[in-house]
Amino acid sequence: MTRAIHWFRRDLRLADNAALTLALAEADEVIGLFILDPKLVDNPKISQARLAFMYDSLRVLSKKLEAKGGRLIIRKGPIVPELLRVLKESQASHLYFNRDYTTYARHRDEAVEREIGEAGYTVRTAKDLVIFEKDEILTGNNSVYTIYSPFKRKWLERINQEPPYKAEPNLEKLTLKSEEARNLESLPVPEKPDAPDQLLETWYLPAGEDEGKRRLKEFAGVLAEGKRPIIESYAGSRDLPGADRTSRLSPFLRFGLISPRMCYRAAINARERSETTEPREGADTWIGELIWRDFYYQILWNFPYVAKRAFQNKFSELRWADNRDHFDAWKKGLTGYPIVDAGMRQLAATAWMHNRLRMITASFLTKDLLLNWQLGEAYFWERLVDGDQPSNNGGWQWSASTGTDAQPYFRIFNPISQSQKFDPQGLYIRRYVSELERVPDKYIHAPWEMPMSEQIKAGCIIGKDYPAPIVKHDEARQKALAMYKIY
Ligand code: FAD
Repeated sequence: MTRAIHWFRRDLRLADNAALTLALAEADEVIGLFILDPKLVDNPKISQARLAFMYDSLRVLSKKLEAKGGRLIIRKGPIVPELLRVLKESQASHLYFNRDYTTYARHRDEAVEREIGEAGYTVRTAKDLVIFEKDEILTGNNSVYTIYSPFKRKWLERINQEPPYKAEPNLEKLTLKSEEARNLESLPVPEKPDAPDQLLETWYLPAGEDEGKRRLKEFAGVLAEGKRPIIESYAGSRDLPGADRTSRLSPFLRFGLISPRMCYRAAINARERSETTEPREGADTWIGELIWRDFYYQILWNFPYVAKRAFQNKFSELRWADNRDHFDAWKKGLTGYPIVDAGMRQLAATAWMHNRLRMITASFLTKDLLLNWQLGEAYFWERLVDGDQPSNNGGWQWSASTGTDAQPYFRIFNPISQSQKFDPQGLYIRRYVSELERVPDKYIHAPWEMPMSEQIKAGCIIGKDYPAPIVKHDEARQKALAMYKIY
C-alpha cells in the first residue's frame, strides 16, 4: 500500500492537475496538503486581495476533496519541517507537487527535494503551471529565446507533440480509508482579510475551480443559442478597456484554478468551431497571450537576475528621479492624466487592471515621471489579485524598455493619444474617475484644456476638483530620451 501526499501550492484544482494525476496513478491513497508559509502569508507586502482569493479558493478545494471522501490538510509553518511532520504522521512514503519557477519557489523547492529525499521519502514533481517550461523551447543552437516572435513560432510547432491533458482523472484514491490519514490534524482555512475601507466590493472575486471553469466557458465555450463567446471578438476588442472584453482569467491561472492547457484547448476548440476569419483571429491572438505567459516564465527561470535588475545590462544604472510626491500621485490616481488615473484607481478598487492600462501606467511612471520601474513592479505586486512574478517583472521591464524584447526606449506612450485611441468616448475613464463624469467627450482625454465656462458646466474645476497634470508630457518625454540615450 503506497500512501502519498499531494502538496497543493499554485494548483488549487482537481481537474488536469499533472502531479495530482501522477499521484493518483501511482499511489493507493492520496492526501491533499496545503502549507501556509509564514514567509508568504504573513508578509506585509503581499496583496491582501490575492490572499483573500487564495483562501476562498482553498475553501472550495477543501469542500471538493471532502465530497470525494478526502481531506485538505492545512498546516502553517516553515515548509521543510512541516512537510516532514505530515509525512511522518501520515506514514506516507511519497510526496508529489507541481513545479514552480518563481525566485522564492525555486530555492524553496530545491531545499524540499534535497532534504525530503535525504530523509528517505520519494519526491516526484511535474510540469503543470505552464505549457512549456524552462528549456523546452530552445533555438536551433540550443540556447534560450530572448525574443518573443521566434519563441512563439517554435512554441506553436511543438504544441501538437504535447500529450493530451487528462481533464478528469480517476479521483477514487482521494477517498481516505486509513486511520493515519483520517486522523491527521488540520487547521481551518483562515478567514479572508477585510477589504480596505475605500475599496469597492468588487475587490473580492468569486474564487475556486468551478468558477474558473465557468469563466473559461463564458469566454471561449459553446454558449446558449445566439450568444457568441468573447474570444471570437478578442482580437479587435481586447485593447478597449471600456468594453472589458478580455477573459479576466489571470487570477485563476495564477492560483491554478484552471490550467493553461485547459485554456489552450478551449481556444483551439473555439477556433475549430468557427468558419470566419474574425473568431479565428480572436483565438490565435488569445493563444499568443498564453505564449507570452510561458515566455516570461522561461525568461525568469533562465535569467534569474531579472528579478533584481534590468535584463539589458546597459540599463542597470539608469539615473531615475527621486520624487515621493510624484510616486504618491501615481499610486492614488491623481496625476491629472485621466487615463492614467483611471487605471490606477481600477487597481485600487478591484485589485486588477486591464492590460492596456498596465502598459500605459507603467510607461507613465517610468517615462513621464522618470521613476524606477522597480517601484512600480513592487506596488503592483502589493496590489494585484493576479500578481505573478514572471509576468509582472516581464511587463514592467517591457514598459521601461529594460527587458527582453522590450519596447525600444524612444517609443514613449503619449497618455493623451493612448486615451483617444483606446477609450475614445471616455467610457473607462468615467467609470473610475467620477470627478470627470460630466466632462464633454472633447475634453475627456485632456481636461486641462477645458475653458473655464466648460469646467463650471461640468462641475469640475481643474486644480480644485481634479488635478492639473503633474508633469508636461512633451517635456517629460525629452527628459526620458536624454536619460536613456546616455546608455
Ligand atoms: P487575457 O487578455 O484574457 O489573456 C489571457 C491570459 O494570458 C491572461 O490571464 C494571462 O495569464 C496571459 N497574459 C495576457 N497578457 C499577458 C502578458 N502581457 N504577459 C504575460 N501573460 C499574459 N499578468 C499576470 O498574470 N500577473 C501580473 O502580475 C502581471 N503584471 C503585469 C504588469 C505589467 C506592467 C504589464 C504590462 C502586464 C502585466 N501582466 C500580468 C500581463 C497582463 O496585463 C495580464 O495577464 C492581463 O491583463 C490579465 O487579464 P486577462 O486575464 O483578462 O487577460
